[in-house]
Amino acid sequence: MYQSFIGLEVHIHLLTETKVFCGCRSAFGDEPNTNVCPVCMGYPGVLPSLNIEAMRMGCMVAKSLNCRIPERTWFERKQYFYPDMPKNYQISQFASPLGQEGYLMLEGRDHTSGKTIQKKVRIKECHLEEDAGKMIHTGTVSLLDYNRAGVSLLEIVTEPDMETGEEAELFIQQLRRMVRYLRVCDGNMEEGSLRADANVSINFPGKGLGKKVEIKNLNSSRFVRLALNHEIARQGELLDAGKAVIQETRLWNENRDQTEPMRTKENAQDYRYFPEPDLPVFTPEPSFLASVEAGLVELPMDRMKRLCLEYGLTAEAADLITEEKAEADYFEQAAACAVEQGLDKKEAAQRIAHLLLQDIKHILMREGIPLSGLSSFALNPRHLADLAVMVCKGKVSLKNVKQALEIAVSSGNPPDSIIREHGWELITDEQAIAEAVRAVYAAEEKLFSEVRAARSGGNAKRGRTLAAFLVGKVLDATGGRADPRIAGKQIEELIRMEA
Ligand code: ADP
Ligand code: MG
Ligand code: ZN
Repeated sequence: MYQSFIGLEVHIHLLTETKVFCGCRSAFGDEPNTNVCPVCMGYPGVLPSLNIEAMRMGCMVAKSLNCRIPERTWFERKQYFYPDMPKNYQISQFASPLGQEGYLMLEGRDHTSGKTIQKKVRIKECHLEEDAGKMIHTGTVSLLDYNRAGVSLLEIVTEPDMETGEEAELFIQQLRRMVRYLRVCDGNMEEGSLRADANVSINFPGKGLGKKVEIKNLNSSRFVRLALNHEIARQGELLDAGKAVIQETRLWNENRDQTEPMRTKENAQDYRYFPEPDLPVFTPEPSFLASVEAGLVELPMDRMKRLCLEYGLTAEAADLITEEKAEADYFEQAAACAVEQGLDKKEAAQRIAHLLLQDIKHILMREGIPLSGLSSFALNPRHLADLAVMVCKGKVSLKNVKQALEIAVSSGNPPDSIIREHGWELITDEQAIAEAVRAVYAAEEKLFSEVRAARSGGNAKRGRTLAAFLVGKVLDATGGRADPRIAGKQIEELIRMEA
């Protein structure tokens, strides 16, 4: 077996309104070449100026990744010639990037092996740069869209601390959730707002890093996993055969499920980095650092752990609820309302989590509403809390709660009045239920004897099944409204009475 080393370079588009060094609009999907100006088109003699919002968002990510923000940070020119970059250089950061030497705690499950992943992945740096334009190849001509040229891009570079495709996939997923929580990136990998280059090498154990292969432009976390695992296997076969791995850049071919050579890799020297003379050194002032702090939020992993501890949720439920910040907020607001109404916190949380993850998510999916739309969803957290309280206090059956939910979503009416209007409140009147129980007894007398026979014959399981069936009959007879606990108690009494 070989040791493997994986380092990721993740690029995220920052959600700044304008580009990083000019005032052009930063947007995805606009008419080509409409968001351009002499600065981002690279005309000679123009001057870039730093978008402070991009710097602030970059520093928020850096802080959330436990990076140090240096006292002085600046920009360099990275020279290369390609039509998507009309200046023939990219303004980037090299010697003193805005975030340095941090880490991300990887925590989760390796879904392939079932093992737990817990690993500290060191972050080498976070640097701010401009994106390049987009080339569209159509048959014999190539078209250029410079709308993306100059869009603020933050690159997050890890040390080669990961070992499997699964770990790298988890890293991308955790980072994606983090930047969405921070509202600095929409994390949309299909649209290219978050993309990764994956570096991987293998070596004989104890021999340190091997010859690195870089897989460029992976636009899904699944491809990151597949490409890396494929590449680890490919390099292993080379070493097995006594051959050497060539240091190169490869591409993932998603149709063939394999990596393919692209070019042999250039070195940092090839880029002729030198300090950007048109931008001053940036010195983060206390007021700037305070604005960075003000943008920080409880990170998804911390929130997930807190939800488990505070509300007694399972790790799975907490993971699902923290998938999106709006969802976690919605959950906690509903739980707080239910607690206000006197419900036990953990009991309320169980019920709310269940309704949210089963019924509400089902409705959202059906209606095509994203999770982020929960903040303006027709059923607000207070209404959800009301429903949870009614279920917990035995005032309505789960089945009717689901129906009330649907009506509440389509009508916008509060669910408790819907339940009242439809007469869905549980019948808790002992007399009324006894009447239904008597009717069931008259119709199913034989079954009562069968329960007794099963129980005295040592077949407790069959006894339970039959008794539950009889309770079900009582519920049917009352349109699902009899309190099942009272119905159950009365059925048991009848079973025992004749014994
Ligand atoms: P380069 O200058 O070639 O871009 P860097 O040192 O900037 O290389 O590293 C780029 C990425 O590659 C980082 O994520 C780093 O962790 C990773 N990396 C560097 N060397 C190796 C190696 N030998 N094996 C695997 N990953 C590596
Ligand atoms: Mg690099
Ligand atoms: Zn511009």
